[in-house]
Amino acid sequence: MNTRDLSANAPYVPGRGVEEVARDLGLDPDDLVKLSSNENPFGPSPRAVEAAKAATESAHVYPKAAHADLTEALAEQWGLAPEQVWVSPGADGALDYLARAMLEPGDDVLVPDPGFAYYPMSARYHHGEVRQYPVAKANGFAQTADAILDAYDGERIVYVTTPHNPAGTELPREELVALLAGVDEETLVVADEAYGEYTETPSAAGVLDKYENVAVTRTFSKAYGLAGLRIGYALVPGAWADAYARVNTPFAANAVALDAALAALGDDEHVEKSVESARWAREYIADELDAPTVDSAGNFVLAEVGDGAAVAERVQQAGVIVRDTGSFGLPDCVRVSCGTEAETRQAVETLNGVLAELDLGAEA
Ligand SMILES: *Cc1c(COP(=O)(O)O)cnc(C)c1O
Repeated sequence: MNTRDLSANAPYVPGRGVEEVARDLGLDPDDLVKLSSNENPFGPSPRAVEAAKAATESAHVYPKAAHADLTEALAEQWGLAPEQVWVSPGADGALDYLARAMLEPGDDVLVPDPGFAYYPMSARYHHGEVRQYPVAKANGFAQTADAILDAYDGERIVYVTTPHNPAGTELPREELVALLAGVDEETLVVADEAYGEYTETPSAAGVLDKYENVAVTRTFSKAYGLAGLRIGYALVPGAWADAYARVNTPFAANAVALDAALAALGDDEHVEKSVESARWAREYIADELDAPTVDSAGNFVLAEVGDGAAVAERVQQAGVIVRDTGSFGLPDCVRVSCGTEAETRQAVETLNGVLAELDLGAEA
């Protein structure tokens, strides 16, 4: 037998793991600085770790189907009704639920180029077709309603990422509103705010009471440091919030992650420290790196280094892992996640050394 035609479904290319790289280089994983996946360099909140450990004692029981505790805490935080909070396995899971709720086979979606790989993947899993709009490097990766609407042709879902991965740029509120006004009322605009904690720009959740065609995705993977537990959510307008019951995978948000996320939500200090540190690090990288960078509102910086793959390869040999952005269609860049102060300084120093070496090589 055969699968259905999966030729358009590109496999996800993750940043490489520390163990894998350490094995290749014959190094101790603890000696590597991993700044390739926008993870929280401080780890999870200690309160989340404690809650996760406690939750494993009851791991033989299915999670509460309604995961009411986390849902209610999030609803309160956002000032929304609990049914408007769609808890999911990672924000990726929320993207799937939205695609399931919206797409008929053959419906088109519009995704940013460059952009986050999971939008087209999720759409194709749900039998959608994918078109792109540019987030143009020539314009400093600025995000505007006009640039999106120029490419827009009635797609069922339009994905925007704010702050954008990998560029770090934002879609300002007035541009979001112009976009919502410019698309068809049956077009859902998904505002992916995976890095929303790192910016001072107000969340798109603020327009959920005015527009029915917008949804916001958020995650515990980045500022909350729980990437390994796979927990996130979507915020949706009340009008169709009840679709959740018809599209969510039963028990997909696991019990350990639910308790850890709830505890993490209660540890403001940990999030604030994580965000402040990232803001320092992104400034430091922009100021000190010997390469042009894009102003970032996230916990990472995109830098134009010439040959991204070669630079990533060389810094890796020196123990620093950064993201080669070739898979995003940006072969001349690397993306550097914000580490601790020591990690960030080490990464910049290593990158600068490699850039100087490559420059000399080019001149010789
Ligand atoms: C990291 C990330 C996500 C979500 O990740 P999950 O771990 O699935 O919550 C979503 N969108 C973007 C742009 C990201 O970078």
